[in-house]
Amino acid sequence: MEIKKCKFCGAPIVWLKTQNGRAMPCDADAVKYQENYKGKDVIVLSDGKVIKATVVNPNGGGLTPIIDGEGYISHFATCTHADEARQPRRTDSPAPSAPEQKPAPTYPDPDAGDYYADLYAMAKAASKERRKW
Ligand SMILES: [Zn+2]
Repeated sequence: MEIKKCKFCGAPIVWLKTQNGRAMPCDADAVKYQENYKGKDVIVLSDGKVIKATVVNPNGGGLTPIIDGEGYISHFATCTHADEARQPRRTDSPAPSAPEQKPAPTYPDPDAGDYYADLYAMAKAASKERRKW
């Protein structure tokens, strides 16, 4: 497994391919975990399985919980620059708002006839006026 450096915080990370074929950055150090669907930690197993678990710290003192196995914790959870990692493209200007929706200009339908009929009526009226003179 190739160890890379997180471009945000510089921590050593490994890219694990998850079951759905997506590469996920994880902390390079494997952790011991206890499987726990309510766990706050996301663990990627070496076979690409992604599970919810609680990371077990063997040096945590007290009762040592049952360890289900070893996996890699998602680096998104531990990255000290996670906010930047999640929003790689930060722009100071607000996102351009969608152009205002204006109703499309309507033109009289020449096939309808009415538009031109009015013009003809006006022209006829105008010619009648002229004839009077
Ligand atoms: Zn990082």
